[in-house]
Amino acid sequence: MAVAETKAVTTCKLLVNGTWIDSSASEFGDIANPSTGDVIARVPMGGPSDVDKAVQAAHQAFFDWAETPVVERARVMFRFKNVLEARYEEIAACVTREHGKTIAEARASLMRGIEVIEFACGVPSLINGECLENLARNVDCETMRHPLGVCVGITPFNFPAMVPLWMYPIALTCGNTFVLKPSEKVPLTSMLIAEALLEAGLPKGVFNIVHGGKDCVNALLTHPLVKAISFVGSTGIAKHVYETGTAHGKRVQAAGGAKNHIIIMPDADIDQTVHALQASAFGCAGERCMAGSLALPVGKAAEELMPRLVESAAKMTIGRTDEGGKPDMGPLISSEHLAKVTSLIQKGEGEGAELALDGRKLKVKEAPKGFFLGPTIFDRAKPEMTIVKEEIFGPVLSVVRVETIDDAIEIGKNCQYGNGAVIYTNSGTAARHFKRHFNAGMIGINVGVPASMAWFPFTGWNNSFFGDLHIQGKEAIQFYTQQKMTMTRWFSPKSTGDKYVDPVWKAKS
Ligand code: NAD
Repeated sequence: MAVAETKAVTTCKLLVNGTWIDSSASEFGDIANPSTGDVIARVPMGGPSDVDKAVQAAHQAFFDWAETPVVERARVMFRFKNVLEARYEEIAACVTREHGKTIAEARASLMRGIEVIEFACGVPSLINGECLENLARNVDCETMRHPLGVCVGITPFNFPAMVPLWMYPIALTCGNTFVLKPSEKVPLTSMLIAEALLEAGLPKGVFNIVHGGKDCVNALLTHPLVKAISFVGSTGIAKHVYETGTAHGKRVQAAGGAKNHIIIMPDADIDQTVHALQASAFGCAGERCMAGSLALPVGKAAEELMPRLVESAAKMTIGRTDEGGKPDMGPLISSEHLAKVTSLIQKGEGEGAELALDGRKLKVKEAPKGFFLGPTIFDRAKPEMTIVKEEIFGPVLSVVRVETIDDAIEIGKNCQYGNGAVIYTNSGTAARHFKRHFNAGMIGINVGVPASMAWFPFTGWNNSFFGDLHIQGKEAIQFYTQQKMTMTRWFSPKSTGDKYVDPVWKAKS
């Protein structure tokens, strides 16, 4: 069992060597249902002692797992996918309960995670090396990809199923063992999914879970047996993880925060743009690293767009996502995060942006203790304002009206982040100019959230990513393996006309 019953709520356990065990932590955090504010479980805030148990288990399991043929490792992933599909609704409901996403968003995010497992099922066709015959006379060269050892995943709160699944299906199929530290705000989904992994027949110790925050992360970053770290979270912590992990000799990929620009050209289809902008800015309550949080209408585009957008966003329904609730938008993750987003809205007002829609006025009667905020839109914001420069990570859209597409590209150049950028237009020329020159790693052309799917790397730029090899896609195969080159000289049989004489055989006879 992943959780232990206590008097009031359940307490999360660690997964070590295939068994759910108690943490040795003395401090615990609360996991709340964001729709109601009710505490639904407790999470141990573990440290070096818990981390050492999990890493040692993963280290012990590594030799056998790395020796297991890659096709057998891939078969575990095929079974894992089947088990997840059978438990799909249960897991999606768990995402909704601990995170607050709508059930439709929870299902979609789980599907994105399952697609990574599908990619991992193809690892036998992707992990092969290269070879070249007769590179020098009678000398052949080949490279083979070997797993690294114990890999670690440290994940954020905003996608409890999908982000952890970006990492370990590929790491495991490449022959590594894994320790996951899910966000302490949403650990329950990862624990359910781990049960599915065990049910799929993954050997003990190959996949382990620890819980906690800063101390737990720092123990993972510095543990001598850890070889590689995949991190997703805010930029400040991503930088810390990259610097500390690499200083301790580990391979690190660390994805950080974002501010994603949506450029609307005057020729864009207005209906499609309003719909896409609303979905991008307010989907998942804006708690997405690919949320379009800054709109840049060009020239006359703003005149028609702004009233239509404000009218449409004002009609969105917001409410409980648990207990079968199906609003357009759910709550934020916590009361602390709600307070942070609200204070940034206040800052935008103070800096002089025009508040076209104020989500703070929202009241959700059936859930007075839920962490709700309505969609919020700032018009006529300026590039130097905090709400334009900083990630807000809530349902807040800032709009900066610009004269030309190059003005929009210039604003992008000055942005510290670089995850995604989108253009809405019917002009191929504008789209190509934007695609080539915008300062971001994932570009959408008439696509509101251009988040890379499993088969492509998640190519954040600037302070949205620290490292060399991105998460997902073929770059992940490179990240989770190291290459070995072998050079072989062949003592080839001597040719005597049509007859070949093997010198070894000849020497023996
Ligand atoms: P966060 O940085 O607070 O936490 C991420 C992880 O770091 C958690 O597991 C947490 O326990 C750990 N952590 C927190 N404080 C730490 C500290 N001081 N030292 C060491 N570890 C620490 O992020 P969050 O609030 O959970 O998630 C939201 C952030 O994640 C946003 O900035 C969002 O843009 C980003 N994100 C980025 C991507 C991407 O692909 N670029 C994807 C999803 C989320």
